[in-house]
Amino acid sequence: MITLEKLTKVYGHGDTAVTVLDNLDFSVAPGEIFAVVGPSGAGKSTLAQCVNLLERPTSGSVVVNGENLSQLSEAQLRAARRRIGTVFQSDGLFSRRTAAENIALPLGYLGVTRRDSKKRVAELLDRVGLSARADYFPHQLSGGQRQRVGIARALALKPTVLLADEATSGLDPESTTSITSLLKELRDDLGLSILFITHEMQTVLQVADSVARLDHGHIVESGRVVDLLRDPASDLGKALNPAKP
Ligand code: ATP
Ligand code: MG
Repeated sequence: MITLEKLTKVYGHGDTAVTVLDNLDFSVAPGEIFAVVGPSGAGKSTLAQCVNLLERPTSGSVVVNGENLSQLSEAQLRAARRRIGTVFQSDGLFSRRTAAENIALPLGYLGVTRRDSKKRVAELLDRVGLSARADYFPHQLSGGQRQRVGIARALALKPTVLLADEATSGLDPESTTSITSLLKELRDDLGLSILFITHEMQTVLQVADSVARLDHGHIVESGRVVDLLRDPASDLGKALNPAKP
């Protein structure tokens, strides 16, 4: 579960202060994919960084599984971050390490034994459908496959929450579908709370249970995708399904 309470992020001070996120309130339940859409500069990545606490919120709070992240010490934060998996647009894989080695990295940092690590990596490769690619290097994989390795690595420490910032941007429709299908499986099988950030409405329609549109740091509209699609007055509903009369 992710809950944002009056989350506000201001960059700069005095005359140069810019409010990038303004009093955001929403939550992502276990077993829910919550999409945040919005144009470039809306504050989407800043939101992701506040949720995994790479950035400290200026005010308000981020609560993950009942734990208020804004109140933790640095050491507690490091532990809390392990319960949050993150996937980015650039897959962030190490180019000189194989798929299996990339997935094993977070386990190595935690001092998991070789044997346990091998077993977990095999499970994760299987989960993302890449068992046959364990020993491939990133440049030998397609963009969609690399993203799936990134997802497997994000899952290595068994997080309860997954953040995906533009995880499908730049992928072709087929690879995008392979990622959205995988995320829905993870939602259903593991009950993850998934925060899915994108600027593509088509992808929101494919993957999300709920969606919020962010513009200049404000949530301008939000709701469950099924409800928005049925509501003739909803701008998000129209944007999600432009073909509908
Ligand atoms: P995109 O779709 O292009 O990825 P975004 O919605 O992710 O955009 P952000 O990266 O969150 O947007 O940026 C939102 C605003 O915050 C931008 O105006 C940006 O210039 C500003 N911003 C982001 N990071 C910083 C920072 N470290 N210092 C100052 N301003 C920042
Ligand atoms: Mg961004």
